[in-house]
Amino acid sequence: MVVDARSDVEQSLNVGNTVSHLLNSIDEQLAPWLKERGQGAYRAGQVRRWLFERRAREFREMTDLPQTLRDELGGHFTLWSTQIARHTQAEDGTEKLLLTLADGGQVECVLLRDEVRRTICISTQVGCGMGCVFCASGLDGLTRNLTTGEIVEQMLQLQLLLGPEERLSHVVVMGMGEPLANLDALLPALEEASRDDGLGISARRITISTVGLPKAMRRLVEAKSRYRLAVSLHAPNDELRHRIVPVSEKIPVADILAEADHYFEQSGRRLTFEYVLLAGLNDSVKHAVELAELLGGRTALLNVIPYNPVAGLPYGTPSQSAQRAFRQTLEDRGIAVQFRHRKGDAIDAACGQLRRRSRV
Ligand code: SF4
Repeated sequence: MVVDARSDVEQSLNVGNTVSHLLNSIDEQLAPWLKERGQGAYRAGQVRRWLFERRAREFREMTDLPQTLRDELGGHFTLWSTQIARHTQAEDGTEKLLLTLADGGQVECVLLRDEVRRTICISTQVGCGMGCVFCASGLDGLTRNLTTGEIVEQMLQLQLLLGPEERLSHVVVMGMGEPLANLDALLPALEEASRDDGLGISARRITISTVGLPKAMRRLVEAKSRYRLAVSLHAPNDELRHRIVPVSEKIPVADILAEADHYFEQSGRRLTFEYVLLAGLNDSVKHAVELAELLGGRTALLNVIPYNPVAGLPYGTPSQSAQRAFRQTLEDRGIAVQFRHRKGDAIDAACGQLRRRSRV
């Protein structure tokens, strides 16, 4: 169902102005600004609490700040740089936002409800340059990286969809874009997600998904990242992987696995491997045997996602019997495997689909 596309948030938008987007770097912007005005540093903590904990939509709601300060904040900073172009809800509680950025680009983000879990899935780029053949997001290539503020804003916009009793519990960076191709903006955004005076979500409940960019994976190790890492394999050998994930042409699976193992050693976080199961392409028992040989011996979970067809793309969902045989083959070889069916299929929750549909 499509619900109110215009919210209070949008009405308080300040898009197009010369004001600064506060969410781009909250501490760095607020601290000197408050100091210049003779305000105590504790005021920054008050603003943070209103934003992340008390879910304020505007400065004027921050009632423990003096009225003049709230007015000045509103004149100098904007909280929101995006507009909600479309808000969809599925019967299973999944909600999806299509956000229009200040420059007209669009990204999407999703809130998933599963018992007490409230997971958000966020985007890191407009479009994607990885070109995975089955993916709607990559069809038109990469337009640009998102800013830190635009990533944080997705989290806050999704938090605003929660009822008063609900709390965000998990973040997955699996929306539009390749997260490791935009680490400079992503890491500060995830810092806001995990800080106690941010969203307060434990790093072990935050997952970064990647097609496997070894240099960027090494950067995560060097940054002593404690987030979970999910590596999208989609194929058990280089030849097939090059066909499904064209960007991997010069990146052997062995190099990706070596960096993933290195990440596991540094972070202690169990690795996840993702495998989109495409009918007739990578779903045979032979592929499952090869995959088990590739991943065997690791402390890892294999997430298999039966493909969700995308309009205009020639790939299909594997039959139930093919799915069962694939799973059984892996389990017989000791692989920890989980089949994940996308929630929110009815609202096009697969990455990139809603954005695409809005343009056709
Ligand atoms: S699946 Fe992910 S990495 Fe691949 S094209 Fe789509 S958004 Fe990019």
